[in-house]
Amino acid sequence: MTDQRSDAPAPVAPYDPGGPYASLAPLADGAQYVGGRQHHGGSGRRHTLVDPATGGTAGEYALAGTDDVDAAVAAARRALPEWAGATPGERSDAMHRLRAVLDGEAADLARAESVQCGKPTRLTEEFDVPGSLDNVAFFAGAARRLDGVAAAEYSADHTSYVRREPLGVIGSVAPWNYPLQMACWKILPAIAAGNTIVLKPSELTPATSLMFARAAHTAGLPDGVVNIVTGTGADTGEHLVTHPDVAMTSFTGSTAVGKRVAALAAQTVKRVHLELGGKAPFLVFDDADLTAAVHGAVAGALINTGQDCTAATRAYVQRPLYDAFVSGVADLMAAVRVGHPADPATDIGPLVSHAHRDRVAGFVDRARAYATVVIGGEAPGGPLAPGAYYLPTLVTDAPQDSEIVRGEVFGPVLTVLPFDTDDEGLALANDTPYGLAASVWSRDVFRTARASRAIAAGCVWVNDHIPIVSEMPHGGYRASGYGKDMSAYSFDEYTQVKHVMSDITGEPRKDWHRTVFRLPAAPDDRTGGR
Ligand code: NAD
Repeated sequence: MTDQRSDAPAPVAPYDPGGPYASLAPLADGAQYVGGRQHHGGSGRRHTLVDPATGGTAGEYALAGTDDVDAAVAAARRALPEWAGATPGERSDAMHRLRAVLDGEAADLARAESVQCGKPTRLTEEFDVPGSLDNVAFFAGAARRLDGVAAAEYSADHTSYVRREPLGVIGSVAPWNYPLQMACWKILPAIAAGNTIVLKPSELTPATSLMFARAAHTAGLPDGVVNIVTGTGADTGEHLVTHPDVAMTSFTGSTAVGKRVAALAAQTVKRVHLELGGKAPFLVFDDADLTAAVHGAVAGALINTGQDCTAATRAYVQRPLYDAFVSGVADLMAAVRVGHPADPATDIGPLVSHAHRDRVAGFVDRARAYATVVIGGEAPGGPLAPGAYYLPTLVTDAPQDSEIVRGEVFGPVLTVLPFDTDDEGLALANDTPYGLAASVWSRDVFRTARASRAIAAGCVWVNDHIPIVSEMPHGGYRASGYGKDMSAYSFDEYTQVKHVMSDITGEPRKDWHRTVFRLPAAPDDRTGGR
């Protein structure tokens, strides 16, 4: 396509090939990927990437403007006939090639994801990147299994069949907490089903989405099938959501922004898929394996420094286990090593930004007025002080209706409250507006089955918390949104179903016409004038 940005000024991009930000070098040619070409954003504004681990500048790039969004949507539209017209097998082949390219870049992806987010490399190497690669492999296979109902004669005179068709150009908006995984969750089901896509990653974390798009190009996906525009939500995001040539908005982010996105998308009657915030309960019954529950709570609360929409955030523990659970969690949290993301000994790294760390700290600071901060509740000093770090934090004695129990803190903070009866515990677990995920801990299968049914959330883990698999759906209930990511269920979001009903009688006058009019029989009328 024509490079509409060829006259755009070169960005300042100090990605020293030997320096700590070398893994962000893919941004040097711009953070936009449109129609198979990378370029600099045309908004006239730049974004400085701040290293959350040190507070230093990691790089800078030119943000997308509305013209970039228009160009990306146009490129996606141009690519649509060829991609939607490809056979499932052809799309599958291309996605298998994409998997191979990404596999070859796994180490680079893990480093870039670590640097831009502040994630420990252990996490990106063992969770973010392998999970993303598995997603690509799953959707490469699933592209060939867009099943529907079998054709049949539901009326004696007709054969009916269902076509499952792509929607067109998908406009997706993603958050910063798992940028590569979110790019996969948005892009893969969309393109597997024959759509083309424009993805807007968070302006804080553009690198790995861009690398994904470049890999798609290397793998031979047609230009324009995968496009990336990196800009702010207020202009780039809203322009994409309201664009008349975009058929569907798929949004992952906070509930507050999700509500606005849904309202904006309604103006052009777009299909909307919302993956929003969470406040997952962690329900421990009195017959649970205490050691397992303690370890599960700490891992589930602190993964990705607590910046996980399904993180364990509210533990409810039946009274006989409550004291032992609190002291066990406090001891284990104290042993968690907070450190620089590149240090292999680091368990959890900084939060994504200083502003977000301060937001998390604000929740805990306000909670001191009504609750007990058992451990943590502050930023570490010493060499980590310049980074956006926050210590693992355990809060007890907070009322159920308090901000820290009901609001999405999105940091390494766990509250624990006791309960007496099973019904009380289940009522507490359901007592927030959210419904994304939950876990129940007990050795009694009947108890866990009853609890799994009673909890209003899109995912319930039993004696574990956090694992996800590509084959199973992820999505919320209530204020956590609607629609499913991952799994074959996601095809319900990214396809529309067409009923084709074909006459099999060949009769010029159909029997049902009698309900509208009666005519005398014509000389050659085989119906006898019915
Ligand atoms: P956010 O809502 O602030 O931003 C998400 C994305 O929306 C970003 O790309 C942002 O630039 C964009 N955006 C902001 N305002 C916009 C607007 N008016 N129009 C269009 N786009 C706009 O969320 P965040 O802080 O980036 O991410 C954290 C949130 O994401 C948390 O609430 C978390 O629970 C949620 N999340 C949910 C899931 C899930 O699967 N349910 C997964 C990951 C994160």
